Amino acid sequence: MKNIAVLTSGGDSPGMNACIRAVVRTCKYNGINAFGIMRGYQGMIEGDIKELQSMDVSNIIQRGGTILKTARSKEFRTPEGREKAYQSLIKHNIDGLVLIGGDGTCRGAVEFFKTYNIPAMATPGTIDNDLAGSDYTIGFDTAINTAVEAIDKIRDTADSHDRIFIVEVMGRDAGYIALHSGLACGAENILIPERRDTMQEVIKRIADNTKRKKLMSIIVVAEGDELGGAMHVDKYLKEYFGNIDTRVSILGHIQRGGSPSCADRILASRTGYAAVMGLLQGRSQEMVGVINDQIAYTPFTEVVKLRLPMKDDMMEMIKVLSS
Ligand code: ATP
Repeated sequence: MKNIAVLTSGGDSPGMNACIRAVVRTCKYNGINAFGIMRGYQGMIEGDIKELQSMDVSNIIQRGGTILKTARSKEFRTPEGREKAYQSLIKHNIDGLVLIGGDGTCRGAVEFFKTYNIPAMATPGTIDNDLAGSDYTIGFDTAINTAVEAIDKIRDTADSHDRIFIVEVMGRDAGYIALHSGLACGAENILIPERRDTMQEVIKRIADNTKRKKLMSIIVVAEGDELGGAMHVDKYLKEYFGNIDTRVSILGHIQRGGSPSCADRILASRTGYAAVMGLLQGRSQEMVGVINDQIAYTPFTEVVKLRLPMKDDMMEMIKVLSS
């Protein structure tokens, strides 16, 4: 193996740069040429590939976002797009790939490797923390800390005005950001897609709190919760209680940005390093994760099939600690 290329794909997450740095530096240390593919699979299709030196990844470990940019590529979902992507890799003599992204990125890789055989490893680059094969994903820790900082501030104003705040956090299919940030902020209600909540439960909790003169309340809701996002929950409450004093706060993209936390930088560095070492040892089509503080390899086909189960004790805790 002489030429390894790295790309970032799907939604950006804090720590992607630290992972790119680890990939490039590990390649260089082992006498391998490193290349960066711009804008994920779309850049692969367009042949937007450039060689990276050690200095190109200097001073990026602390930066959010991704210096390689990222994209969601419709064209890569077609056989024609994937053929173009393969031809670009051949043209640049790429004989190994490191893919930094989430489950969609691994799904794209599964499709690609049905037809083409260029060794590839992935690292778990997503804020969603929803990947089987790693206890945590790159960017999750930073995202929940951003959410916690924001919700703590919202609690101050909620408390001062005796108001109910409905805070929407990211998570279209996964409730990990809502669960962790909600638990860490002592939210009175946490609504996540993995658990079927009913509005009756939310209403009962608010009514119980009101009886014991606790008028303020924080409801953390994942954007993908089956009750709808924060606006829907607000509408239900207003319809039910009539004159209830509620406010909605949608945290949005601030959860993706910012300097990565220490935990994310370490996870990104460990998995980026292990991805290149794995390629050099002949591994392919696996995602590198960290399970119980050990490097773990999970085939792409398993990553896209399995879902990281919600921990039962955490689910139980929501009920107990917010009562
Ligand atoms: P995040 O968790 O941040 O959303 P992700 O990796 O899941 O990250 P996606 O947009 O779902 O982000 O996937 C990244 C890219 O992978 C897509 O834009 C698309 O190009 C490719 N991809 C996803 N699924 C497929 C598929 N079934 N076939 C081919 N390519 C796919």
